[in-house]
Amino acid sequence: MSSTRSQRGRVIVVSGPSGVGKGTLVRKLLENSDFPLELSVSATTRSPRAGESHGVAYWFLSREEFLQRRERGEFLESFEVYPGGALYGTLKQTVDDAVKQGKWVLLEIDVKGAKSIVEQIPEAITIFIEPPSIEELRKRLEGRATESPEELAKRLAQAQEEIQQAGFYRYRVLNDNLDDAYAKLVDILQNHQDA
Ligand code: ADP
Ligand code: 5GP
Repeated sequence: MSSTRSQRGRVIVVSGPSGVGKGTLVRKLLENSDFPLELSVSATTRSPRAGESHGVAYWFLSREEFLQRRERGEFLESFEVYPGGALYGTLKQTVDDAVKQGKWVLLEIDVKGAKSIVEQIPEAITIFIEPPSIEELRKRLEGRATESPEELAKRLAQAQEEIQQAGFYRYRVLNDNLDDAYAKLVDILQNHQDA
């Protein structure tokens, strides 16, 4: 496969409960695969975690700025992912620019966001990353140690609901063994290359 061959732009949506390994798998794809991928940097009102920088992990905005930009129609989709929590949203300009350049733009977003994207872009490739179990999910989140116990409980509660929506996605990938999950993702993307 040649990464220089020009390709039609694509929108790829990756969802799955918090802690399932979306970020890990997406990073691996960006670093190791040959697809013309570009990660869509979302905006959020949550605080940065240690090591997260503005414009790389997210555009970290105040709630006021987020709401102003939403009012101006700058988001393709935006949601309060966890009840009563931070806002997250995909910027229209980011997706439009990437698709125009023939990139495969990766959106790592929640189930509500994914449904909104599919309404607007029915040809989007949707992938749900599944955990081996809720217990394993808890272990991964505890191991990552980035959330308070209250935030972790919220994320696990939401996980149950999200997993029930997995059937909405075109593809489902079990992230038990990381290398197997990665190989499956590459396989899915390979099947979407121009002939
Ligand atoms: P998400 O982006 O879905 O919230 P992360 O990519 O941050 O999840 O992964 C959560 C934690 O689980 C991280 O500490 C990561 O190293 C670990 N992890 C990811 N995939 C696996 C796997 N297949 N087996 C064990 N641990 C994993
Ligand atoms: P985190 O706070 O762990 O970075 O992300 C929490 C959740 O927010 C993840 O499930 C992630 O997929 C989702 N998320 C991140 N960015 C967006 C976005 O732009 N839109 C939507 N709808 N969800 C997002």
